[in-house]
Amino acid sequence: MEGNKINGKTVTEEDLLGLGYRKYYSDDLDVFYNKDICAHVGNCVRGDSNVFEVGRRPWIITGNAESAEQCIQVVNSCPSGALKWLYHGQDNLAKEETTMPTFTFEDQGDQIILINSDTKQQAGEIAFMEAESTLIIVHTGVNPEYRGNGLAEQLVAKVVEKARREDKKIFPICPFAQKEFKIKPEYADVLRQDV
Ligand code: SF4
Repeated sequence: MEGNKINGKTVTEEDLLGLGYRKYYSDDLDVFYNKDICAHVGNCVRGDSNVFEVGRRPWIITGNAESAEQCIQVVNSCPSGALKWLYHGQDNLAKEETTMPTFTFEDQGDQIILINSDTKQQAGEIAFMEAESTLIIVHTGVNPEYRGNGLAEQLVAKVVEKARREDKKIFPICPFAQKEFKIKPEYADVLRQDV
């Protein structure tokens, strides 16, 4: 089932909210759920238990998806139409992939910024404080037009590289960074566990 359509017609947020769907937001993708339509088949939970977990509040955390594309696949597997998705700011995922600029990273001491190589403008940042040789990640953000391309993940990876290089640990407070550490066991060597 195409999770961004109803009766073959592409839906809008207004359509879905008007039909009684509830919105579960993330940076690049919104998932909508209508409990009155749900047939409790469980394709969603089996498809990605990080995003869909019965009993948790909220039971859908769209930002836990590995990628928007993967989350869309799971939503499309919902047979009842209780789940819908809307991708932010574009009509065609592939189109954005082909027009993405290149980026560089600049370590400014208390943040690493993402720079669009073409425009030289800041396109995102990951901010951290330092205490007791620990980098406390407080914020990760990417400008809306560049979201959904793994850049926030790359920002977290840059802080991991910095911590290894400078023999420091990391304590993520920012929810996105916390999720990255949860799903990437390869970051365990720099994760501060004793706080
Ligand atoms: S896949 Fe759809 S119908 Fe099945 S449990 Fe999830 S939301 Fe309900």
